[in-house]
Amino acid sequence: MKSTMMEGALSLNHLLDRAGRIFAGNEIVSRLPDKSLRRHTYGEFHRRTRALGSALQKLGLRKGDRVATLCWNHHAHLECYFGIPAAGGVMHTLNLRLSPDEIGWIAGDASDRFLVIDDVLLPLYKQLAHLHAFEKVIVFPFSGSAVPAEFADYEALLAAADPAGFTYAPHDENDPVAMCYTSGTTGRPKGVAYSHRSTVLHTLVASLGDFWGLRGTDVVMPVTPMFHANSWGMPYGAVMMGVKLVFPGPHLHPDDLLDLMQLEPPTLSLGVPTIWMSLIQAFDAAQQPGSPNAGRWKLPRGMRSLVGGAAVPESLIRAFDRHGIWIEQGWGMTETSPVCTISYPRAELQGESDDEKYRRAAMAGVPVPLVDLRVWGDEGELPWDGKSVGEIQVRGPFITGSYHEVPLDPGKFTEDGWLRTGDVASVDNLGFVRITDRTKDLIKSGGEWISSVDLENALMAHPAVAEAAVIAIPDEKWSERPLACVVWKKGAAAQPADLNAHLLKHSFAKWQLPERYEFIDAVPRTSTGKFWKLKLRERYPR
Ligand code: ADP
Repeated sequence: MKSTMMEGALSLNHLLDRAGRIFAGNEIVSRLPDKSLRRHTYGEFHRRTRALGSALQKLGLRKGDRVATLCWNHHAHLECYFGIPAAGGVMHTLNLRLSPDEIGWIAGDASDRFLVIDDVLLPLYKQLAHLHAFEKVIVFPFSGSAVPAEFADYEALLAAADPAGFTYAPHDENDPVAMCYTSGTTGRPKGVAYSHRSTVLHTLVASLGDFWGLRGTDVVMPVTPMFHANSWGMPYGAVMMGVKLVFPGPHLHPDDLLDLMQLEPPTLSLGVPTIWMSLIQAFDAAQQPGSPNAGRWKLPRGMRSLVGGAAVPESLIRAFDRHGIWIEQGWGMTETSPVCTISYPRAELQGESDDEKYRRAAMAGVPVPLVDLRVWGDEGELPWDGKSVGEIQVRGPFITGSYHEVPLDPGKFTEDGWLRTGDVASVDNLGFVRITDRTKDLIKSGGEWISSVDLENALMAHPAVAEAAVIAIPDEKWSERPLACVVWKKGAAAQPADLNAHLLKHSFAKWQLPERYEFIDAVPRTSTGKFWKLKLRERYPR
């Protein structure tokens, strides 16, 4: 017997057309370089995106050509998300926080043909132009200044295009739509290419009620850069549901984000933990007597915040909950589209104590549908007993099965086709994943593992500690010992003995306590805003 269902390729074009037809009046707000707000509707978005597709085809874009973007989060970047694939191209988001050398190398590795770039980023382009020859550089006049004559003007291209006469490039659902590079903490960065199919499936799954829970009445503020795993896929979800978007543009300083929240209060926002740590510090500092920012901000009560990309300390979740903001943690990677697990209040946990609620929220969460997840130890698959710790391996229709033009590496993929994540975790009987560490960050002391994440989370729960990052230092007797790098909250400090006493109260054993503390001004950040332990290891080799 055969199914009677129609066949139809999953396609981003469907989401685009649907948004244009059903949500034409809904708003997309972008913060411009001069901090003013520019308002668009989904109707305009639909027309402009098709105009971009048409303009790219006129420029000679062929199926599968890569079009790089070097842009902040704003409406034109969203147009690229849909307009480049609509024309048959592959959008390749370049990370503007990398060095010019790295960006140039990545553009070359991806064979990017065209580039769409914000005018305010042209100084960066000039530093990398000699490393990769883009055939056409299209400048988006984000600041409103005239586009230099040697480049194509994004707005002029759109104005001359024919959105009504544009036809979508024929495609298969497995054709690529977007490309992202991993951070390459070991070796060169590697490219991951998402397809229409993987993107639509990821969008449907992540938007479900227990995960992002997107509703038409939501106002979504994506602080996660659109070059960081496609802003975790939120732009696709927002277009699918026609929700109001508020893009922060280049203004990511906590004061600016708090200002924007007053102007356009979000109901849902997303970003890495360090963003929210800085934001709550700025907010708390403004509540101190005599602060120049006294009375300037209110936090948007009732907002949900999706936080991931690095472990979310329980203390951060508690701090926001005191203001009526719920942090929902997710875990994933560029390789996984990225949402793999999300921590949400399961039915079985209703009626549990607040402490239990926070403890769960500080975990990576439960695997989402279509993601198979296993924990792998030296002897094979480990039970979901909350105790057995091994490497997380995943597979599924929105998880990469290889890297762009890189031979299959057994260090990255198992023989039976699972992605080796390099993250170490246990899973409990309810399916909650608890990440202990990245393989390379675990500390091996006297033959036993110490979790740097556990130590950091406990240290950040100390009232004087703003941030803590723990690394391994070599030790003759124990092989490795933990070194804790601590940033004090403004005007606060404590003694190492106080911190140790605090850790002992958090049920750490004596041998797990940091060997040494370093008190630093700030933890170095990676290009995606995470704690950059590599830099700390370089600074403290012993
Ligand atoms: P990179 O961090 O290397 O720039 P990704 O953004 O793809 O690249 O990061 C993926 C990694 O981030 C994961 O393998 C994991 O180590 C870490 N990560 C992501 N989310 C979480 C989380 N909720 N808890 C702990 N670690 C996380």
